[in-house]
Amino acid sequence: MPPRKLAAGNWKMNGTLASLAEVDALTRDCGTAGVEILICPPATLMRPMADCIGRGIIAVAVGGQDCHAKESGAHTGDISAEQLRDAGASYVIVGHSERRADHGETDEDVAAKAVAAHRAGIASVICLGETEAQRDANETLDVIARQLAGSVPDCATAANTVIAYEPVWAIGTGRTPTNDQIAEVHAAMREALVARFADGAGFRLLYGGSVKPANAAEIFAIAHVDGALVGGASLKAADFAPIVKAL
Ligand code: PGA
Repeated sequence: MPPRKLAAGNWKMNGTLASLAEVDALTRDCGTAGVEILICPPATLMRPMADCIGRGIIAVAVGGQDCHAKESGAHTGDISAEQLRDAGASYVIVGHSERRADHGETDEDVAAKAVAAHRAGIASVICLGETEAQRDANETLDVIARQLAGSVPDCATAANTVIAYEPVWAIGTGRTPTNDQIAEVHAAMREALVARFADGAGFRLLYGGSVKPANAAEIFAIAHVDGALVGGASLKAADFAPIVKAL
C-alpha cells in the first residue's frame, strides 16, 4: 500500500515544458515522510514529467486527467489508460466535474473509465461533488451517495481507487465548505465505502476545491480527509510545497 496521505495536483490545461522547473523545485523543497505526491499534468507533459521526476530526490507519481474506457481504436483525440501507463502514469483522475460538465460524462461513463484504469494497472482518482444549487437545496448527501454508487465500480479496492470530494462551487472560486460540511460528506463517503467494500476503511479520501497553503492544515485535520486534490495551487512549487508539508 502507498502512504495513507496523498497530495495530488491537477494541472488541468496548464503548463508547457518550461513548467517542469516547478516540479524540480517541488522535489527539492519537499522531503516528505509518509506523504505521497501525485501530479496530473496535461498529456503532452506526462512523459517528460515522468522522466524529470525519475531523476529527482523524492518519489512523485504522475497521473492523467482523464482516459477513454477502451484500450485502443478509432477515438480521435482520446487517450487510453494503457497509453497513460505507457507514458509513465500510475494514476488517472476520472469524473472531474469539468469533464462531467464540459463533456457530458455520466456516472456510468466515469465507472467505465475507472474500470479501464484498473485494467491497465493504474489507480483511479474518482471525483464527486455537488453543485451550488444542489447544496442550497440540501441535496448534497444524496448527490454524493448517488455519484459514489454509480461512479465507483465494483472492482474498486483501497489499493486501486482514491475518492475526491470536490464541491463544484468550490473549484477555482476561492470558496470552501465549512469544516463541518467537509466532515459530514467525508464521513458519509466512508460509511458508504465500508458498507459496500470489505476494505472500505482503507480507501483514501481527498478534499478538493480552493485548497491553498493558508487553509490546508485546517482541512487536513478533519476526520477522514486523507489528502487533497489541488488545482490552481499545484502549478507553482511555492504554493504546492507548503500544502504537501501541511499534510
Ligand atoms: P482548485 O481546483 O484547487 O483550483 O479549486 C481543484 C480541482 O479542480 O481539482
